[in-house]
Amino acid sequence: MKRLRIRITGVVQGVGFRPFVYGFARARGLAGFVRNSSAGVELEVEGEGIDSFLEAFRSGAPPLSDIVTLETEEIPLEGDREFAILASRDDGESTCIPPDVGTCGDCLGEMKDPADRRFGYPFINCTNCGPRYSITRKVPYDRPNTTMAAFEMCPDCRREYDDPTDRRFHAQPNACDVCGPRTEFVHDDTRLFGKAAVEAAVALLRSGGTVAVKGIGGYHLAVDAENADAVSRLRERKRRSNKAFALMAPDVDCVRRFAVVSDEEEALLLSMQKPVVLLRRRENQSLPEAVAPGVPDLGFMLPYSPLHALLFPGRSSPRLLVMTSGNLSEEPVVKENGAAREKLSQLADAFLHHDREIFMRVDDSVVRRFGNQTIFIRRSRGYVPSVIPLGEDGPQVLACGADLKNTFCLTSGEAAVVSQHIGDMENHETLEFFEETLENLKAVYRITPAAMAHDLHPRYFSTRWALEQNGVEKHGIQHHYAHVGSVMAEAGLKDAVIGVALDGSGYGGDGTVWGGEFLVARRNGFERRAHFRAVPMPGGEAAARNPWQMALSYLADLHGEAAMAAAENSGMTERVGRTAVENVLKIRKNRSLSPLTSGAGRLFESVSSLLGVRDVNTFEGEAAMALEAEAAQGEGGTYPYDIHGSDPAEISFSGAVAALLKDAGSGVSCGRAAARFHNTVSAAVVEMVRRLHNETGIADVVLTGGVFQNRYLLARVIPGLSALGLRPHINARVPANDAGISLGQAFLLRSLL
Ligand SMILES: [Zn+2]
Ligand SMILES: [Zn+2]
Ligand SMILES: [Zn+2]
Repeated sequence: MKRLRIRITGVVQGVGFRPFVYGFARARGLAGFVRNSSAGVELEVEGEGIDSFLEAFRSGAPPLSDIVTLETEEIPLEGDREFAILASRDDGESTCIPPDVGTCGDCLGEMKDPADRRFGYPFINCTNCGPRYSITRKVPYDRPNTTMAAFEMCPDCRREYDDPTDRRFHAQPNACDVCGPRTEFVHDDTRLFGKAAVEAAVALLRSGGTVAVKGIGGYHLAVDAENADAVSRLRERKRRSNKAFALMAPDVDCVRRFAVVSDEEEALLLSMQKPVVLLRRRENQSLPEAVAPGVPDLGFMLPYSPLHALLFPGRSSPRLLVMTSGNLSEEPVVKENGAAREKLSQLADAFLHHDREIFMRVDDSVVRRFGNQTIFIRRSRGYVPSVIPLGEDGPQVLACGADLKNTFCLTSGEAAVVSQHIGDMENHETLEFFEETLENLKAVYRITPAAMAHDLHPRYFSTRWALEQNGVEKHGIQHHYAHVGSVMAEAGLKDAVIGVALDGSGYGGDGTVWGGEFLVARRNGFERRAHFRAVPMPGGEAAARNPWQMALSYLADLHGEAAMAAAENSGMTERVGRTAVENVLKIRKNRSLSPLTSGAGRLFESVSSLLGVRDVNTFEGEAAMALEAEAAQGEGGTYPYDIHGSDPAEISFSGAVAALLKDAGSGVSCGRAAARFHNTVSAAVVEMVRRLHNETGIADVVLTGGVFQNRYLLARVIPGLSALGLRPHINARVPANDAGISLGQAFLLRSLL
């Protein structure tokens, strides 16, 4: 007979943990209590056989829970008879908010059951599913602290909420048709509510209309994905580049009609996080080109809120929807009804609103499979704000991230919390989103940063914001060093690594733009040991949008004054115009207009243009992605490259560019030339790393930066390094692109303090 006090931290609130403890203790005849605390969950149990209780406890915990620490302490008996669930106690420590979780099978079943009292109710949820992070204003995660506070539970819902044996026991967003949120459909002068609202939205989608649908973390713009006119109209209205639209399908069978789905990909689609999964499109599917122009992959997700599921009522509905974020081009996704009316009325024909407020906006996450692992393109809804364990204690810091695909990172103790996707920091709205999310996560995790990390780029919004903050120590951390740090943090690499950071651009600090970097990186500093040879970037940032400008720079690099003739031979003059070519070649000679760049992204884009694949990036990375898509499998050829000098050594691909132009001119297919180019870069990376390994003895190699989202490249570099007995590491918890920078900054900053 004894009594234990047990304190548990981790994801233990809002995931059915207390009912689990309650049922578990009662079944074993134990007395005591359980309650939420700000630190997690606290319980006291009294009775016999408590040790076996503890053992079974960990293995039987609810599926959404994640126990980080469990501390026990024996205390005097109190003679309790019953086991009870007590009200929450706020004891001043931090805890976690669970991420938003896709609707569970039980809830979906009830929603489709005409006999159930929640038949057709779009806000059904239980302790195993539903909104969490997006509706929580502060911890502890209890109903009054969520946007559900506005809805008073009806007696039926209250009974479920209070019944420890019920699946909705203390399910904070518990609601029904009688007492909970409801939908509203607005189309011109028509206003409909509840079931009629959803039916009207479906009918409008079926007839080709665009509906702005309020979901979990913000609005989507929805159209019938198989209606070519509707999709093209949406693309025109959004004026959105060629970026692929995300698709929502009612089930995996439907996804399979359009894309190839492996078992692992199916598991990802069905996972509780319900991310957008990038899948290879089937050859003979008939989707309109405007859904995803010129790319081999399609991004699919399954309905993750009950309202989404109701958009697919069966035969009368579109079987596949485009679900793209509801925002004006570069602004954050819209989350409020009023803002939706104001900003989306030019884009949507009608609105499907609801009256449950979204407190935290959070975009859809995007993932893909590579080999036997899942890689993140965007880590947001479903994953944030889950903690990334750092495996060691350390100070509380804030890392502000980079300006493209911004995220920030807060740390406390062993935990790193990386924010959801904030977006490109180029307007006031995005900066506001950054600030409000930061305030929220600081409050939730009770973090007061002792120091702050930022990028070195003086013109980054994030840098300028950091430098304006008072009363906190600030450290600039080089962009590519931070990329490398992100993998060190994830993989727990504490000693020196060879870091290969390939991306579009990052501030180098030496007057050139970096992006093809080989660093020997330690936690307290790095040396730039090699880089891709720098070439002028004619027109600066404009060259990043126009790969043909960068391609001309490579031609000039190769042919000098004969570049004009080379541009003519390659067909570029015809495509972009003689005057444009002449201007760029002129600008290229002016160093103040044409900074030098070693950016790997720029090299890939140039080759894309030289091979006639893409001359323009309508979104970041487009030309390089299209080039990867062209690369023919099974092609083993390579082009010449050259490594010269040391510390830093320079890797020149001039020979490769010359050989590839020759290939293109002599009828070698674009696919083979693209593959040979990829093979060449892979070989150069492996060779450079081999040399650095020989010089330093370091065997841990980090591959990161946006260019390493290229699977063709990864699939060659990783085996190449492994064959040398080295240990390659890639990003597994955060994206390899600039969204991962904040984690790396935070990790490195903690080593500096
Ligand atoms: Zn559920
Ligand atoms: Zn109710
Ligand atoms: Zn970068």
